[in-house]
Amino acid sequence: MQHPENNAEYKGLTVNSGVEQPSIVNPYLKRFRRRHRELSVGEMVEGILKGDVTVLSQAVTLVESVNPDHVGKAQEVIDKCLPYSGRSVRVGISGVPGAGKSTSIDQFGVHVLGEHGGKLAVLAIDPSSERSKGSILGDKTRMEKLAQHPDSFIRPSPTAGSLGGVARKTRETIILCEAAGFDKIFVETVGVGQSETACHSMVDFFLLIQLAGTGDELQGIKRGIMEISDGIVINKCDGENVDKCHLAARNFRNALHFFPKPESGWTPQVMCYSGFYGTGIKEIWDMVYRYVDFVKANGYFDHRRNEQSKYWMYETINEHLRSSFYNSRLIQQRLADAERMVLAGGKTSFAAAGELLDAYFAEMKK
Ligand code: GDP
Repeated sequence: MQHPENNAEYKGLTVNSGVEQPSIVNPYLKRFRRRHRELSVGEMVEGILKGDVTVLSQAVTLVESVNPDHVGKAQEVIDKCLPYSGRSVRVGISGVPGAGKSTSIDQFGVHVLGEHGGKLAVLAIDPSSERSKGSILGDKTRMEKLAQHPDSFIRPSPTAGSLGGVARKTRETIILCEAAGFDKIFVETVGVGQSETACHSMVDFFLLIQLAGTGDELQGIKRGIMEISDGIVINKCDGENVDKCHLAARNFRNALHFFPKPESGWTPQVMCYSGFYGTGIKEIWDMVYRYVDFVKANGYFDHRRNEQSKYWMYETINEHLRSSFYNSRLIQQRLADAERMVLAGGKTSFAAAGELLDAYFAEMKK
Protein backbone atom coordinates (compact mmCIF):
# COMPACT_ATOMS: atom_id res chain seq x y z
CA MET A 1 0.00 0.00 0.00
CA GLN A 2 1.16 3.47 -0.84
CA HIS A 3 2.02 5.74 2.05
CA PRO A 4 -0.45 8.66 2.16
CA GLU A 5 2.39 11.14 1.91
CA ASN A 6 3.14 9.82 -1.54
CA ASN A 7 -0.21 11.06 -2.80
CA ALA A 8 -0.23 13.88 -5.30
CA GLU A 9 -1.63 16.30 -2.69
CA TYR A 10 1.57 16.02 -0.69
CA LYS A 11 3.68 16.59 -3.76
CA GLY A 12 5.35 19.60 -2.17
CA LEU A 13 6.95 17.36 0.43
CA THR A 14 8.80 15.08 -1.94
CA VAL A 15 12.48 15.52 -2.03
CA ASN A 16 13.74 16.47 -5.43
CA SER A 17 17.18 15.49 -6.46
CA GLY A 18 19.33 18.54 -5.96
CA VAL A 19 22.52 19.78 -7.47
CA GLU A 20 25.30 17.22 -7.24
CA GLN A 21 27.67 18.15 -4.48
CA PRO A 22 31.33 18.45 -5.36
CA SER A 23 33.50 15.79 -3.76
CA ILE A 24 34.95 16.77 -0.41
CA VAL A 25 38.10 14.92 -1.40
CA ASN A 26 40.64 17.05 -3.16
CA PRO A 27 40.87 15.59 -6.70
CA TYR A 28 44.54 16.54 -6.80
CA LEU A 29 45.17 14.40 -3.75
CA LYS A 30 45.16 11.30 -5.91
CA ARG A 31 48.18 12.44 -7.80
CA PHE A 32 49.80 13.46 -4.57
CA ARG A 33 49.04 10.04 -3.12
CA ARG A 34 50.37 8.21 -6.12
CA ARG A 35 53.68 9.93 -5.72
CA HIS A 36 53.83 9.03 -2.03
CA ARG A 37 52.36 5.57 -2.20
CA GLU A 38 53.98 2.95 -0.04
CA LEU A 39 57.08 1.58 -1.70
CA SER A 40 57.59 -2.14 -2.07
CA VAL A 41 60.52 -3.84 -0.35
CA GLY A 42 62.41 -4.00 -3.63
CA GLU A 43 61.82 -0.33 -4.44
CA MET A 44 62.89 0.66 -0.97
CA VAL A 45 66.11 -1.33 -1.10
CA GLU A 46 66.86 0.04 -4.57
CA GLY A 47 66.29 3.62 -3.38
CA ILE A 48 68.46 3.10 -0.31
CA LEU A 49 71.31 1.61 -2.30
CA LYS A 50 71.13 4.59 -4.65
CA GLY A 51 71.55 6.85 -1.62
CA ASP A 52 68.09 8.41 -1.97
CA VAL A 53 67.59 10.15 1.39
CA THR A 54 63.80 10.40 1.00
CA VAL A 55 63.54 6.64 0.60
CA LEU A 56 66.01 6.15 3.44
CA SER A 57 63.79 8.30 5.70
CA GLN A 58 60.75 6.25 4.75
CA ALA A 59 62.62 3.03 5.50
CA VAL A 60 63.71 4.35 8.90
CA THR A 61 60.11 5.28 9.67
CA LEU A 62 59.13 1.73 8.75
CA VAL A 63 61.80 0.32 11.06
CA GLU A 64 60.52 2.50 13.88
CA SER A 65 56.89 1.52 13.35
CA VAL A 66 55.22 -0.82 15.83
CA ASN A 67 52.54 -1.87 13.35
CA PRO A 68 52.93 -5.67 12.89
CA ASP A 69 52.62 -5.37 9.07
CA HIS A 70 55.47 -2.90 9.05
CA VAL A 71 57.68 -4.98 11.32
CA GLY A 72 57.87 -7.84 8.81
CA LYS A 73 58.46 -5.53 5.87
CA ALA A 74 61.13 -3.58 7.77
CA GLN A 75 62.91 -6.83 8.54
CA GLU A 76 62.98 -7.74 4.86
CA VAL A 77 64.42 -4.35 3.96
CA ILE A 78 67.07 -4.67 6.66
CA ASP A 79 68.00 -8.20 5.58
CA LYS A 80 68.46 -7.05 1.99
CA CYS A 81 70.55 -4.06 3.07
CA LEU A 82 72.72 -6.06 5.44
CA PRO A 83 75.27 -7.20 2.81
CA TYR A 84 75.91 -3.52 1.94
CA SER A 85 76.37 -2.39 5.53
CA GLY A 86 79.34 -2.35 7.86
CA ARG A 87 81.64 -0.09 5.88
CA SER A 88 81.64 2.89 8.18
CA VAL A 89 83.18 4.34 11.27
CA ARG A 90 80.60 4.38 14.05
CA VAL A 91 81.16 6.77 16.91
CA GLY A 92 79.05 7.01 20.05
CA ILE A 93 78.87 10.45 21.64
CA SER A 94 77.60 10.70 25.18
CA GLY A 95 77.33 13.39 27.81
CA VAL A 96 74.88 14.67 30.40
CA PRO A 97 72.28 17.20 29.21
CA GLY A 98 74.00 20.56 28.89
CA ALA A 99 77.44 19.03 28.31
CA GLY A 100 77.30 20.49 24.82
CA LYS A 101 76.49 17.44 22.71
CA SER A 102 74.49 19.22 20.03
CA THR A 103 76.88 22.15 19.77
CA SER A 104 79.78 19.72 19.55
CA ILE A 105 78.20 17.30 17.09
CA ASP A 106 77.45 20.23 14.81
CA GLN A 107 81.15 21.17 14.86
CA PHE A 108 82.44 17.60 14.81
CA GLY A 109 80.26 16.74 11.82
CA VAL A 110 81.29 19.72 9.74
CA HIS A 111 84.93 19.09 10.61
CA VAL A 112 84.88 15.38 9.79
CA LEU A 113 83.06 15.91 6.50
CA GLY A 114 85.48 18.70 5.57
CA GLU A 115 88.56 16.69 6.46
CA HIS A 116 87.59 13.18 5.39
CA GLY A 117 84.74 13.69 2.90
CA GLY A 118 82.07 11.02 2.65
CA LYS A 119 78.62 11.17 4.22
CA LEU A 120 77.56 11.44 7.85
CA ALA A 121 74.43 10.14 9.58
CA VAL A 122 73.62 11.39 13.08
CA LEU A 123 71.33 9.05 14.99
CA ALA A 124 70.34 8.96 18.63
CA ILE A 125 69.26 6.77 21.50
CA ASP A 126 67.09 8.55 23.98
CA PRO A 127 64.59 6.29 25.71
CA SER A 128 63.23 9.26 27.64
CA SER A 129 62.15 11.15 24.54
CA GLU A 130 58.67 9.65 24.44
CA ARG A 131 57.89 10.57 28.00
CA SER A 132 59.54 13.93 28.33
CA LYS A 133 58.86 14.99 24.73
CA GLY A 134 61.50 17.61 25.38
CA SER A 135 64.84 16.04 24.76
CA ILE A 136 64.59 14.46 21.36
CA LEU A 137 68.21 13.85 20.60
CA GLY A 138 69.38 14.24 17.06
CA ASP A 139 66.85 16.97 16.43
CA LYS A 140 67.78 18.94 13.34
CA THR A 141 67.17 22.31 14.92
CA ARG A 142 69.90 21.70 17.46
CA MET A 143 72.53 21.16 14.77
CA GLU A 144 72.08 24.04 12.44
CA LYS A 145 75.19 23.83 10.29
CA LEU A 146 75.04 20.10 9.91
CA ALA A 147 71.33 20.12 9.12
CA GLN A 148 72.08 22.24 6.05
CA HIS A 149 75.05 20.19 4.96
CA PRO A 150 74.29 18.25 1.77
CA ASP A 151 76.14 15.15 3.00
CA SER A 152 74.45 14.77 6.35
CA PHE A 153 71.39 12.88 7.52
CA ILE A 154 70.04 13.67 10.98
CA ARG A 155 67.42 11.53 12.61
CA PRO A 156 65.94 11.99 16.10
CA SER A 157 65.78 9.10 18.52
CA PRO A 158 63.12 6.44 17.95
CA THR A 159 60.47 6.95 20.59
CA ALA A 160 59.06 3.49 21.06
CA GLY A 161 59.14 2.39 24.67
CA SER A 162 61.87 0.37 26.31
CA LEU A 163 65.56 1.15 26.05
CA GLY A 164 66.18 -2.24 24.42
CA GLY A 165 63.56 -1.50 21.76
CA VAL A 166 64.78 2.03 21.08
CA ALA A 167 68.39 0.91 20.87
CA ARG A 168 67.59 -1.98 18.53
CA LYS A 169 65.84 0.38 16.15
CA THR A 170 68.83 2.71 16.17
CA ARG A 171 71.07 -0.21 15.40
CA GLU A 172 68.87 -1.26 12.51
CA THR A 173 68.88 2.32 11.24
CA ILE A 174 72.69 2.20 11.18
CA ILE A 175 72.45 -0.73 8.76
CA LEU A 176 70.12 1.21 6.45
CA CYS A 177 72.29 4.34 6.57
CA GLU A 178 75.42 2.36 5.75
CA ALA A 179 73.69 0.69 2.84
CA ALA A 180 72.78 4.18 1.63
CA GLY A 181 76.46 5.08 1.55
CA PHE A 182 76.86 6.85 4.89
CA ASP A 183 80.39 6.00 5.93
CA LYS A 184 80.39 7.97 9.15
CA ILE A 185 77.79 7.35 11.82
CA PHE A 186 77.39 9.30 15.03
CA VAL A 187 75.14 7.84 17.69
CA GLU A 188 74.27 10.43 20.28
CA THR A 189 73.04 9.41 23.69
CA VAL A 190 72.31 11.16 26.93
CA GLY A 191 74.73 10.20 29.63
CA VAL A 192 72.29 9.48 32.38
CA GLY A 193 71.64 5.80 32.97
CA GLN A 194 71.80 2.69 30.86
CA SER A 195 71.62 4.17 27.39
CA GLU A 196 75.37 4.56 27.04
CA THR A 197 75.83 0.81 27.49
CA ALA A 198 73.36 0.26 24.65
CA CYS A 199 75.15 2.88 22.56
CA HIS A 200 78.52 1.31 23.32
CA SER A 201 77.20 -1.98 21.99
CA MET A 202 76.79 -0.56 18.48
CA VAL A 203 79.76 1.75 17.95
CA ASP A 204 83.46 1.40 17.23
CA PHE A 205 84.54 4.36 19.33
CA PHE A 206 82.80 5.71 22.40
CA LEU A 207 83.43 9.39 23.12
CA LEU A 208 82.42 10.81 26.47
CA ILE A 209 81.88 14.56 26.74
CA GLN A 210 82.51 15.89 30.22
CA LEU A 211 82.50 19.27 31.88
CA ALA A 212 85.06 20.58 34.32
CA GLY A 213 84.28 21.16 37.94
CA THR A 214 80.76 19.77 38.15
CA GLY A 215 81.63 16.66 40.06
CA ASP A 216 81.00 14.67 36.90
CA GLU A 217 84.51 13.32 37.07
CA LEU A 218 83.55 11.28 40.08
CA GLN A 219 80.09 10.36 38.87
CA GLY A 220 81.63 9.06 35.69
CA ILE A 221 83.98 6.86 37.62
CA LYS A 222 81.16 5.54 39.78
CA ARG A 223 78.91 4.63 36.90
CA GLY A 224 81.61 2.83 35.03
CA ILE A 225 81.09 4.95 31.94
CA MET A 226 84.74 5.83 31.92
CA GLU A 227 85.54 2.15 31.60
CA ILE A 228 83.71 1.92 28.30
CA SER A 229 85.02 5.25 26.94
CA ASP A 230 87.73 5.21 24.30
CA GLY A 231 88.14 8.97 24.62
CA ILE A 232 87.11 11.52 27.22
CA VAL A 233 86.82 15.10 26.05
CA ILE A 234 86.28 18.07 28.30
CA ASN A 235 84.10 20.68 26.68
CA LYS A 236 83.79 24.43 27.24
CA CYS A 237 87.52 24.87 27.52
CA ASP A 238 87.24 28.58 26.80
CA GLY A 239 87.34 31.92 28.62
CA GLU A 240 87.83 31.63 32.34
CA ASN A 241 87.18 27.93 32.21
CA VAL A 242 90.49 26.95 30.60
CA ASP A 243 92.48 26.26 33.78
CA LYS A 244 89.65 24.30 35.34
CA CYS A 245 89.38 22.16 32.21
CA HIS A 246 93.08 21.33 32.19
CA LEU A 247 92.89 20.43 35.85
CA ALA A 248 89.89 18.18 35.17
CA ALA A 249 91.79 16.56 32.31
CA ARG A 250 94.67 15.76 34.67
CA ASN A 251 92.22 14.25 37.16
CA PHE A 252 90.69 12.08 34.48
CA ARG A 253 94.08 10.88 33.28
CA ASN A 254 95.01 9.97 36.83
CA ALA A 255 91.71 8.20 37.39
CA LEU A 256 92.17 6.20 34.20
CA HIS A 257 95.34 4.68 35.66
CA PHE A 258 93.17 2.82 38.14
CA PHE A 259 91.24 1.01 35.45
CA PRO A 260 92.46 -2.18 33.83
CA LYS A 261 93.80 -1.72 30.31
CA PRO A 262 90.93 -2.09 27.82
CA GLU A 263 90.66 -5.22 25.70
CA SER A 264 91.38 -3.14 22.60
CA GLY A 265 94.90 -2.46 23.79
CA TRP A 266 94.18 1.24 23.28
CA THR A 267 94.86 3.70 26.07
CA PRO A 268 91.86 6.03 26.36
CA GLN A 269 92.85 9.63 25.70
CA VAL A 270 91.72 12.74 27.56
CA MET A 271 91.51 16.08 25.74
CA CYS A 272 90.11 19.57 26.22
CA TYR A 273 88.16 21.49 23.57
CA SER A 274 85.53 24.11 23.00
CA GLY A 275 82.57 23.07 20.93
CA PHE A 276 81.30 26.62 20.89
CA TYR A 277 84.50 28.27 19.68
CA GLY A 278 85.60 25.28 17.62
CA THR A 279 89.00 24.81 19.23
CA GLY A 280 90.61 21.41 19.79
CA ILE A 281 88.19 19.69 17.41
CA LYS A 282 90.82 18.54 14.93
CA GLU A 283 92.88 16.93 17.70
CA ILE A 284 89.87 14.93 18.85
CA TRP A 285 89.11 13.57 15.39
CA ASP A 286 92.73 12.83 14.64
CA MET A 287 92.62 10.75 17.80
CA VAL A 288 89.46 8.90 16.71
CA TYR A 289 91.00 8.04 13.35
CA ARG A 290 94.25 6.99 15.05
CA TYR A 291 92.18 4.64 17.18
CA VAL A 292 90.44 3.19 14.14
CA ASP A 293 93.78 2.52 12.43
CA PHE A 294 95.12 1.00 15.64
CA VAL A 295 92.24 -1.44 16.20
CA LYS A 296 91.95 -2.34 12.54
CA ALA A 297 95.62 -3.28 12.62
CA ASN A 298 95.37 -5.41 15.77
CA GLY A 299 92.12 -7.13 14.80
CA TYR A 300 90.04 -5.65 17.60
CA PHE A 301 87.83 -3.66 15.22
CA ASP A 302 86.35 -6.82 13.67
CA HIS A 303 86.33 -8.63 16.97
CA ARG A 304 84.24 -5.89 18.58
CA ARG A 305 81.78 -5.83 15.71
CA ASN A 306 81.35 -9.60 15.89
CA GLU A 307 80.77 -9.43 19.61
CA GLN A 308 78.20 -6.71 19.01
CA SER A 309 76.36 -8.81 16.44
CA LYS A 310 76.24 -11.67 18.93
CA TYR A 311 75.00 -9.33 21.65
CA TRP A 312 72.21 -8.03 19.41
CA MET A 313 71.13 -11.50 18.46
CA TYR A 314 70.58 -12.36 22.12
CA GLU A 315 69.03 -8.97 22.83
CA THR A 316 66.55 -9.48 20.00
CA ILE A 317 65.64 -12.95 21.26
CA ASN A 318 65.14 -11.60 24.78
CA GLU A 319 63.08 -8.70 23.59
CA HIS A 320 60.92 -10.94 21.41
CA LEU A 321 60.30 -13.52 24.11
CA ARG A 322 59.46 -10.84 26.62
CA SER A 323 56.97 -9.10 24.38
CA SER A 324 55.37 -12.40 23.28
CA PHE A 325 54.97 -13.38 26.94
CA TYR A 326 53.50 -10.10 28.14
CA ASN A 327 51.27 -9.70 25.09
CA SER A 328 49.77 -13.15 25.48
CA ARG A 329 46.12 -12.89 26.43
CA LEU A 330 46.42 -15.73 28.94
CA ILE A 331 49.26 -13.99 30.77
CA GLN A 332 47.46 -10.67 30.70
CA GLN A 333 44.48 -12.35 32.35
CA ARG A 334 46.53 -14.02 35.06
CA LEU A 335 49.29 -11.54 35.78
CA ALA A 336 47.38 -9.24 38.13
CA ASP A 337 46.14 -12.19 40.23
CA ALA A 338 49.60 -13.65 40.46
CA GLU A 339 50.96 -10.28 41.56
CA ARG A 340 48.26 -10.00 44.23
CA MET A 341 49.06 -13.48 45.53
CA VAL A 342 52.74 -12.65 45.81
CA LEU A 343 52.07 -9.36 47.57
CA ALA A 344 49.64 -11.04 49.98
CA GLY A 345 52.27 -13.65 50.79
CA GLY A 346 50.11 -16.45 49.36
CA LYS A 347 52.81 -17.53 46.94
CA THR A 348 56.52 -17.02 46.55
CA SER A 349 57.73 -14.90 43.62
CA PHE A 350 59.41 -17.96 42.13
CA ALA A 351 56.35 -20.18 42.34
CA ALA A 352 54.15 -17.49 40.80
CA ALA A 353 56.62 -16.86 37.99
CA GLY A 354 57.02 -20.59 37.41
CA GLU A 355 53.26 -21.11 37.12
CA LEU A 356 52.87 -18.23 34.68
CA LEU A 357 55.73 -19.46 32.54
CA ASP A 358 54.37 -23.04 32.55
CA ALA A 359 50.96 -21.75 31.53
CA TYR A 360 52.53 -19.64 28.76
CA PHE A 361 54.57 -22.51 27.31
CA ALA A 362 51.60 -24.90 27.53
CA GLU A 363 49.53 -22.34 25.60
CA MET A 364 52.31 -22.01 23.03
CA LYS A 365 52.34 -25.77 22.39
CA LYS A 366 48.62 -25.83 21.52
P1 GDP B 1 73.45 19.15 25.09
O1 GDP B 1 72.29 19.22 26.02
O2 GDP B 1 74.50 18.22 25.62
O3 GDP B 1 73.08 18.86 23.68
O4 GDP B 1 74.14 20.60 25.13
P2 GDP B 1 74.04 21.85 24.13
O5 GDP B 1 74.87 21.63 22.94
O6 GDP B 1 72.60 22.16 23.93
O7 GDP B 1 74.75 22.98 24.99
C1 GDP B 1 74.27 23.41 26.25
C2 GDP B 1 74.74 24.82 26.51
O8 GDP B 1 76.16 24.88 26.60
C3 GDP B 1 74.34 25.78 25.40
O9 GDP B 1 73.95 26.98 25.99
C4 GDP B 1 75.63 25.97 24.62
O10 GDP B 1 75.73 27.22 24.00
C5 GDP B 1 76.68 25.82 25.70
N1 GDP B 1 77.96 25.35 25.15
C6 GDP B 1 78.12 24.26 24.34
N2 GDP B 1 79.42 24.12 24.02
C7 GDP B 1 80.08 25.13 24.63
C8 GDP B 1 81.47 25.53 24.68
O11 GDP B 1 82.35 24.94 24.07
N3 GDP B 1 81.77 26.61 25.45
C9 GDP B 1 80.84 27.29 26.13
N4 GDP B 1 81.22 28.33 26.85
N5 GDP B 1 79.53 26.97 26.10
C10 GDP B 1 79.15 25.90 25.37
